[in-house]
Amino acid sequence: MSLVTYKKKRAFTNSPEPEGNKKKGAQKELSFVIQRHKASRLHYDFRLEMEGVLKSWAVPKGPSMNPGDKRLAMMVEDHPYDYKDFTGIIPEGNYGAGIVEIWDMGTYSGVNPEHEKINEKRLLQSLKNGNLKFAMKGKKLKGEFALIKLKGKEDNSWLL
Ligand code: MN
Repeated sequence: MSLVTYKKKRAFTNSPEPEGNKKKGAQKELSFVIQRHKASRLHYDFRLEMEGVLKSWAVPKGPSMNPGDKRLAMMVEDHPYDYKDFTGIIPEGNYGAGIVEIWDMGTYSGVNPEHEKINEKRLLQSLKNGNLKFAMKGKKLKGEFALIKLKGKEDNSWLL
């Protein structure tokens, strides 16, 4: 997957964010991270590893453990795999300037409607179809979640 947009938006001489040249190690499970990002507006960046990068959504209100809560999630550019470990301050004048903290992290797997684990190929297919279901093993987030693409809305609007 391409990190062209990610790289285009950033000047790595001015921002401590990873350039994205590191690849994943031996870990078999897929990773996720949720970063609390205190930028011009506070939001939570929800990132799921797929095909070697982090598929990313900005969630203004953050995720909820209450199944009744549906949270708007705006899909943004793919981030590099090693962004999952990034915390720090993005200086003023840079894209996303502000404070990034890790709110939760762990592993996850895609699941089908029968709650069975699916492989990464099927997971990518469900991303394309705008209907992702997955089981999270984090410290805060545990259990099944879904990301559903909103039809008839802006292209990048999803619900978590
Ligand atoms: Mn952000």
